[in-house]
Amino acid sequence: GGLISPAENTWCPGCGNFSIQHMMKSAVAELSEEEGIPLENFVLLGGIGCHGKLVDYLNVNSFYGIHGRSVPAATGIRLGNPDLKVICHVGDGDIYAEGLDHLIFAAKRNSDITVIVHDNRVYGLTTGQYTPTSPEGFRGRSTPGGITEHPLNPLEVMLATGATHIARGYTKKVRHLKDLFKEAIMHRGFSFVDVLQICATYFNLTDYYNEHAYEIEAGEVETGRYESALGKIREWDYDRDAPIPLGTFYSVEKPIYEEKFRALAAGRAERRALVRKVVGEWR
Ligand code: SF4
Ligand code: MG
Repeated sequence: GGLISPAENTWCPGCGNFSIQHMMKSAVAELSEEEGIPLENFVLLGGIGCHGKLVDYLNVNSFYGIHGRSVPAATGIRLGNPDLKVICHVGDGDIYAEGLDHLIFAAKRNSDITVIVHDNRVYGLTTGQYTPTSPEGFRGRSTPGGITEHPLNPLEVMLATGATHIARGYTKKVRHLKDLFKEAIMHRGFSFVDVLQICATYFNLTDYYNEHAYEIEAGEVETGRYESALGKIREWDYDRDAPIPLGTFYSVEKPIYEEKFRALAAGRAERRALVRKVVGEWR
């Protein structure tokens, strides 16, 4: 109970952000209990958009980044304190448009952070403009004639650029979503969860997702193999009338950025101490 903050909630009724908020709350509470992680060791970051309010609505340490820039702040926080579980909540406009370069480089570095994308395929807070994952033909506030671009497949981008844990969830499958959050948070390295989030007001895709989304079964994808993950990721190219797989597509262990960086910094400090010693003796 204490994990939900008393701040007034201003999301629209029926918004998928409620599912993400409550499942993140449960994930944090359960991991704290099961893994012995103190609650104060969880840090949530938000970007700009409806999703960003989540960090005000949960009672854990939090930080607001500017539009699309919460990811590099997360890497900095993780670098400064290796005990922290750093979780970035971002929007699809926020991270696939404004912040795409930061997302790609955090994946490339295998920064030990978790990125949860509230992918409602629209800019909700600014009342309905198209984002990089809006489907072709989408008629938004800024594109009344419909957009003429094919949407980005963010899971494929993440696989290609080095993310070591890649998953997709859906806000109407809450228990599944919670399990995906827990798995992503406990993964050592860059973990990424794209969440198909219902925007009840500007782009309600509930019927479409309910009809097409399904949970990947054990053994259906070899999560340690790039080609297997890629095949599963390409099953749904975002706007075709194809089944939409939900679950973990890829998960591998690789050295993490923050540890390599610390080892390098420690090496430098050692060399400096040696130089000081030699110079001191010589004098
Ligand atoms: Fe949720 Fe859409 Fe309302 Fe924003 S505009 S709070 S995403 S339903
Ligand atoms: Mg959005």
